Amino acid sequence: MEQPTTYIDCILPIPINQHFTYHIPAEMVDRIQVGCRVIVQFGTRKFHTAIVRKIHHEKPEYETKPVESVLDENPLISEKGFRFWQWIADYYCCTEGEVMKAALPSGLKLESKTSVYLNEDWVESEKLNDMEEMVYQFLNSQQTATIQQINSLTKKSNAYPIIQSLLEKEAISVEEKIVGKYLPKTVAHVKVSSILVSEEDFEVAFQKLKRSQKQLDLFMLLLNELHFFSNIKIESIPKKELLHKGKTSEGILRGLIEKGYVEIIEIETGRLADTPAASKKPFALNSYQEEALNLIHKEFIEKNVVLLHGITASGKTEIYIQLIAEQIRAGKQVLYLLPEIALTSQIIERLKAVFGDKAGIYHSKFNDSERVEIWNKVFAFDKDKETGYQLILGARSAIFLPFKDLGLIIVDEEHESSFKQFDPAPRYNARDAAIVLAQIHEAKVLAGTATPSFETYFNAKSGKYGYVTLNKRHHDVALPEIIVADIADAQKRKQMKSLFTPLLFNEMQKALENKEQTILFQNRRGYSPYIQCHSCGWIPICKHCDVSLTYHKFQNNLQCHYCGYTIQLPNSCGNCQSADVRTKGFGTEKIEDELQLFFPDAVIDRLDLDSTRKKFGHEKILDKFAEGKTQILVGTQMITKGLDFENVSVVGILDADNLLNYPDFRSHERAFQLMSQVSGRAGRKHSQGKVVIQTYQPVHPVIMKVISNDFENLFNLSLQERKFFQYPPWFRLIYITIKHKNRERAQLSSQHLATELQKTLKTKILGPEYPLMGRIQQYYQLMIRIKLEKNISPAEPKKKILEAIEKVKHFENNGSVLFSIDVDPM
Ligand code: ADP
Ligand code: ZN
Ligand code: ZN
Repeated sequence: MEQPTTYIDCILPIPINQHFTYHIPAEMVDRIQVGCRVIVQFGTRKFHTAIVRKIHHEKPEYETKPVESVLDENPLISEKGFRFWQWIADYYCCTEGEVMKAALPSGLKLESKTSVYLNEDWVESEKLNDMEEMVYQFLNSQQTATIQQINSLTKKSNAYPIIQSLLEKEAISVEEKIVGKYLPKTVAHVKVSSILVSEEDFEVAFQKLKRSQKQLDLFMLLLNELHFFSNIKIESIPKKELLHKGKTSEGILRGLIEKGYVEIIEIETGRLADTPAASKKPFALNSYQEEALNLIHKEFIEKNVVLLHGITASGKTEIYIQLIAEQIRAGKQVLYLLPEIALTSQIIERLKAVFGDKAGIYHSKFNDSERVEIWNKVFAFDKDKETGYQLILGARSAIFLPFKDLGLIIVDEEHESSFKQFDPAPRYNARDAAIVLAQIHEAKVLAGTATPSFETYFNAKSGKYGYVTLNKRHHDVALPEIIVADIADAQKRKQMKSLFTPLLFNEMQKALENKEQTILFQNRRGYSPYIQCHSCGWIPICKHCDVSLTYHKFQNNLQCHYCGYTIQLPNSCGNCQSADVRTKGFGTEKIEDELQLFFPDAVIDRLDLDSTRKKFGHEKILDKFAEGKTQILVGTQMITKGLDFENVSVVGILDADNLLNYPDFRSHERAFQLMSQVSGRAGRKHSQGKVVIQTYQPVHPVIMKVISNDFENLFNLSLQERKFFQYPPWFRLIYITIKHKNRERAQLSSQHLATELQKTLKTKILGPEYPLMGRIQQYYQLMIRIKLEKNISPAEPKKKILEAIEKVKHFENNGSVLFSIDVDPM
């Protein structure tokens, strides 16, 4: 009897909202499982990696194509994973294919356009077969090729299994988009110089060192620590450790280096490859932390989500550590989400020290092969065999890792807008999605912050979430004293020292004298946000976007921060040719410049997107600051995230008005969060710190609330306003953006869409209108804002929105107008 044909329905990484059916050639039937990756043809020549969603025998009405090949022996996605994808797609109005695209590292989703590269430093550990060898040699001559090109080379139409196998053998890698390359951290080690060989050499050295007893002692200690004359000799020891053990200083070591007896070498640490075992025990909790932990446990009995509202430096991390340890003992997995930037900081070091090789980090700066490696290790977790990662520390996309059995998700700094993905779809908020992910795993969620988002706080107050507070800093160090400096007043009295009020200036000076550190915050990078002709008012703007060009002094050019468009700094006005073109406003680069004039002897550093690109990433800048080598650190919001420095006594907020006047319904909430968080960097360990807020609005209510640390009051005030103007947490927002290079087309389509929506949605629809920036990267964009009451299910309206968009697209009969939907925009 003939076997019935077997079919699969699969998810393709494309924005079409359906599954696609293929038939399985008889010889592959046994090898295919739901959740495996397969290669299928889509369109006439394109090949894609697809994920098997369903296996069945129902012949569809159309002629099916065969599955080309099967890539996995075991499923990559579990049923839990699929449920999560489905939720994301439904809630954020996108396709499962788009979720798939966001979820899988590129090494796991080959397609015909994927570029393949040779791994230059590959050492042949496994033999390549003939086909693999051919592809390898081809790449050797080409450096890079697309899979399509390799297909034609192998004349097989299907080179995927060969590429897959080469990938597994690590002979090649696939295209990766890395924002700034991940640079491994290095640590200085001390070793005995290679000029010392024979016994005689050492005798001579000892003789010479007799004249400086301290150097001799250190040298002997080094030999001893390295077991130098034994057969278990080790190569080197960390410099810090040696100096600590010898209770001696850099100067003594330098003496040895100058004599040529010892050398310093830089050794990489913290790479994925080395997985040091846990080296530190958790701290014993203080009594306030102990109480908070007990309350969290109590709340978890009834509630699935708990908000831990703990002031800065109250030691929330230590509470997380206790909760994680409990889950690990219970054999469950834990996901610890935090903002991207905090992922490079001390929190990671702290958790790695406590949890060692049980913990993996998922970071956008890791390259693709490392990401695939983490994916596999999360998947390989087995509590009995003690394999794989049990704890993942990751930024937002870590929610897509293939967890088997989560017990807890921690969302640290839950108020952070970087948990939200803006572009492309899925435009998800990892904090909110984490709650659904936890539900699927029957796990708990702990959201922690010193400055909750209004949405989360609202849920906590209304009893939907549990709520626990922690109001004491560790060691009872007081919160910093916050002083307001009135810029207008200082200007009137002609007391401004360039950008600095006398109040801030004096505090910085005092800090320098006392060998304490200062952090200065300005939420703008570059030298000045725009330049302007003093005669006619002309301001150079971007050719592609409706935005002024930012002046960067170091590079001496003008840059668009939205599209990267860059021009030389003009030496006269582009309108009236006047030579009097002046810089306006100021960014971090200018602050750094001005500081150097006032404090020529101080070491001043800058932490922003530019400096971290130009230098060697945040790590270097932050390490330097932590080691006390930098006295003043200037930064954008990058400096607000999870940093813990013990010697910072002064924090300056240079331009609070810039935060307060931003035209967005969340501006007060954000301003409060930023100012409180950056203030929280002051006086964390031993003594009370000082914060100076410079502003033209010294009695602005938000500033008053920051001073009194009265979140509750600010929340209550804003809540009424938000209700009145129909904003979250009372209302749900959905924004639709309509884009086209032609202004008229964009306008017509959005008008059409608005009309459609008015017809079907019985709710408030605003727009279409041009947002703050009507044009970005040559696209004109309009926005329609929809407000939905919280108590009606959004599923039905979302369906209608999608239908309306389809209708407009159909009517336009042209795919060139772009529509994007943003649910719960931030
Ligand atoms: P938060 O995240 O709440 O701002 P951290 O977790 O960074 O605070 O803690 C602030 C500082 O206090 C850190 O340097 C931390 O090591 C220290 N600390 C917190 N709790 C304890 C404890 N129980 N024992 C020892 N040190 C602690
Ligand atoms: Zn631009
Ligand atoms: Zn002019």
